[in-house]
Amino acid sequence: MSAVYNTDWDGLIDIIAYGLGQVGKRFIRLFDKRFNVRWIVDNGERCSEEYCGIPVISLEQMMLKRKEEKIIVFASRSAFFSIRNDLIEKGLKENKDFCKLDDFIRDWYWQFEEKNCLREVHMAVNTNCTFQCKYCNMFMPYYKQPICYNAQDVAKDLSLFFERIDYVFSFAFLGGEPFLNQELEIMIEILFENYREKVGQIEIITNGSLIPEKRVLETLKKCKVMIRISDYTKRIPYIDRMNELCSILDSYGICYSVEESLQWTDFCFPECTDKIEISNVRSHMLSCAPEFHGLNDGKFYYCHVSWSAEKAGIFKLKGSDFIRLEDIDNNKKACRKIVEYADGNMECGYVSLCEKCMGCGMDNNKFVLAGEQISR
Ligand code: SF4
Repeated sequence: MSAVYNTDWDGLIDIIAYGLGQVGKRFIRLFDKRFNVRWIVDNGERCSEEYCGIPVISLEQMMLKRKEEKIIVFASRSAFFSIRNDLIEKGLKENKDFCKLDDFIRDWYWQFEEKNCLREVHMAVNTNCTFQCKYCNMFMPYYKQPICYNAQDVAKDLSLFFERIDYVFSFAFLGGEPFLNQELEIMIEILFENYREKVGQIEIITNGSLIPEKRVLETLKKCKVMIRISDYTKRIPYIDRMNELCSILDSYGICYSVEESLQWTDFCFPECTDKIEISNVRSHMLSCAPEFHGLNDGKFYYCHVSWSAEKAGIFKLKGSDFIRLEDIDNNKKACRKIVEYADGNMECGYVSLCEKCMGCGMDNNKFVLAGEQISR
């Protein structure tokens, strides 16, 4: 539901960023370009350090230092609830003194700047991969015929999308393994040259098993792309290759992160050993609530997993499971529908695949080992 901010949120400059976990590390520096982030609050060991030149302090220190600054909470959905309780215990009020990052992106920009903004959008550029992960949440091993998009396909989707959306904090190309796509660097150039003012950070999500060619590395550097390496080396023996990639990226001055603690759940779809029961599908979907959305084939998807299920030929989506971008007039009010949709406000209340997919929300505790390979 949309938050409505008091007028004292208007003209916001000074903010306090709460949280220096994975979300904070990815997004705070993007906010630092637009706002003056006075402090970062973190109750871990990082207190009294600095992050990107911003002092990191504890909640107690913040309570002593804070004047009128608004607090933006940079945290995952599950972490937000306990942070919210801590802040409320200190007498602070949600949407008056503090708010969640996603709510701020959705509502503050609309209320005070009439901008349609999204936090994170993913575009798959191919579905072939160097691994065969048993629990791949994009169902890559189920594709009988892998898909590979070309730069023209991507340019068309980007144009449809950015005619309607004012700003995306993070835009990621992924696969499959995106470094298998021979036109990846052209796609990055198109995004950077045409839409750099509308994207906070261009990202590539890779498993780190391939070394890109020189021409690709040069484009990554020029377009300031962040490489997010999903580390499956605990399950798959490719640590030397991944380390080689990291040193090549270092030598080019390309930023990257290695995400080691990936936690996967068994979606129990399309194969299921246990009988699954989903009594309230909308609550189930909102518990999963993907923090990123999908853009492919001229359509915007609340759940990019559902796009892939259909492409892999294992599920047939309904018309309400996505927004066909050319059906939305490109005026601000009409395009607001995309932002609302990304918040889970869709015609029939949920994505139809949620009836069969256990997803990765708090109601699914079937944890599995990330990167476990299909035995041949
Ligand atoms: S539960 Fe629904 S929203 Fe979550 S991954 Fe499955 S289909 Fe997508």
